[in-house]
Amino acid sequence: MTDVRDQVDARIHRWVRPDIASLAAYPVPDAKGLLKLDAMENPYGWPDALTAQWHEALADARVNRYPHPEAPEVKVALRAVMKIDPRWDVLLGNGSDELIQLIAMLVSGPDRSLLAPEPSFVMYRMIARFLGMDYIGVPLTATFELDLELMLNRIEREQPAVVFLAQPNNPTGNLWGDEKLRRIIEAAPGLVVMDEAYTAFTEADYLEWLEDYPNLLIMRTLSKVGLAGLRLGILIGDPAWLEQINKLRLPYNINNLTQLTARFALEHFEVFEQQTAELTRQRSLLQQALAKLPGLTVYDSQANFLLVRTEPGHAPALHEALKDAGILIKKLDGSHPLLADCVRITVSFEAENQRLLEALQQHLLNS
Ligand SMILES: *Cc1c(COP(=O)(O)O)cnc(C)c1O
Repeated sequence: MTDVRDQVDARIHRWVRPDIASLAAYPVPDAKGLLKLDAMENPYGWPDALTAQWHEALADARVNRYPHPEAPEVKVALRAVMKIDPRWDVLLGNGSDELIQLIAMLVSGPDRSLLAPEPSFVMYRMIARFLGMDYIGVPLTATFELDLELMLNRIEREQPAVVFLAQPNNPTGNLWGDEKLRRIIEAAPGLVVMDEAYTAFTEADYLEWLEDYPNLLIMRTLSKVGLAGLRLGILIGDPAWLEQINKLRLPYNINNLTQLTARFALEHFEVFEQQTAELTRQRSLLQQALAKLPGLTVYDSQANFLLVRTEPGHAPALHEALKDAGILIKKLDGSHPLLADCVRITVSFEAENQRLLEALQQHLLNS
């Protein structure tokens, strides 16, 4: 009998798109037993009383039934919490990752491109690749500011179908300034998506700009607020755009448990607001403490993470030493030329930040 395994490989070779076959899957490191400071999660749990109430509410979940395809109650709660004007529509995704995919699918095709400043959120590039779109990464300046001239040049030349702007940007943590952002939205011939994944940690808020621009969409998520495990992304914009995108959405993309839990959590949103306010306060304390450690440069951040640059060549060893000390952070060194020697650290509550600082101090004094 022929070896079935060999046949699998042969058929993969024959049928899988070569551009996909040559890709590596998005690496998610094993964090078992480690203090997770790598993925911008909210470290807090819920108060016990709230958890008990939530468990009671979950008893009503009917998992034998399909979820409501539009999750209307979740949308009503989101509109209230985020103060979304009735004239805009809301479309939900299985995380904002799914929304990025839907938007890209809407405009993909031969000779269609997706443009984003670099370094930024890696899913923009990956999803463009998955869909066979041209991806145009426009480098930021050495201090991670938006290079307006370069952006305008590339937009003019490439006529991108969609531009993604993360504000605050991941992994640099900064804002690029209203004037530059407006110039880019005005110059873009296609859609512009303002990705506000870190809206809970910044005063910046571009929701009202929807009134000014026919090509703008606002994207948010509950992930960084404290509900990463729910997978709920939020797209806000003109009903006519969202009607088109909604055609591509799989009918039951927001499951029963997510709908029920999101509704519950949004009713108690003040808990998350208190947590994110405390994390924002911790961010500046951690930034000051890190800046005092020898050999580290810490960048200003408007998000719940800090971008840190080590001395030349030290990032891998620092990343490894923290792992040995039981702490997982994100090594960015090697992922983009502008991020040489950089790591990204998620801000946590005081005790965990302290643990990080002590481990870092140990490492830096011994190396
Ligand atoms: C984390 C992140 C997302 C993805 O969020 P999910 O809703 O968890 O898929 C999107 N954009 C940016 C800039 C992010 O940092």
